[in-house]
Amino acid sequence: LEIEMARLERFNLVGEMAAGIAHEIRNPMTAVKGFLQYLSGKKDCVQYKEYYDLMILELDRANAIISEFLSIARSRAVELKHHNLNDIIESLYPLIQADAMVSDKEIKIELGEIINLNLDEKEIRQLILNLFRNGMEAMQPGKHLTIKTCLDNGKVVLSVQDQGTGIDPEVLKKLGTPFFTTKEKGTGLGLAVCYSIAARHNATIKVKTGSEGTTFFVRFAKQ
Ligand code: ADP
Ligand code: MG
Repeated sequence: LEIEMARLERFNLVGEMAAGIAHEIRNPMTAVKGFLQYLSGKKDCVQYKEYYDLMILELDRANAIISEFLSIARSRAVELKHHNLNDIIESLYPLIQADAMVSDKEIKIELGEIINLNLDEKEIRQLILNLFRNGMEAMQPGKHLTIKTCLDNGKVVLSVQDQGTGIDPEVLKKLGTPFFTTKEKGTGLGLAVCYSIAARHNATIKVKTGSEGTTFFVRFAKQ
């Protein structure tokens, strides 16, 4: 089961929706924070000051989460520089390894001889991590996740292969739709971000899935 993921309309949606949501949520939050700060400083509210300050702290935390989402979802100007994808993967290794150890899963990294590409390092790290996290979340303990690079017909290909449960056809059709998730605590933004990053790098994403697991292939165009 394999489908091509070139859904440009969805890429732009992510940025627009993210900016819209941030605006709509931040305004009421700013108003609430203002009143809390007022109450926190009031003499006859002094017995509750601790609670008001906690509420302000939590609002700030929520605000930080929104910013975090925005920074990945909103398209910024890409900074393309000559990079070797293998170096980027190697720099992620400690993070990936720590994650695997905590969840009792194995990571294999197979780096082929590949050519340098013009890449936005931050975005490519995000792309790899998002695919990695999905793979990890789909697998039971003891399973393997493999990250590979290779040259195929002169094109650099990155693949992230998991031994998870695979993706149902109905779910497969919706991959990349912002906020589509089958997870209780999912955001449904991970793949939407991956597709938008791939599009900005002139790369395509293909997915191959079955009962033995799922592989995401990111194929970069010749530069
Ligand atoms: P989230 O991980 O927050 O749910 P994503 O956009 O990263 O959002 O993924 C959307 C959905 O795609 C997931 O909820 C899951 O159902 C499915 N999915 C993505 N990657 C995999 C995978 N490697 N194995 C199984 N299902 C996957
Ligand atoms: Mg995800």
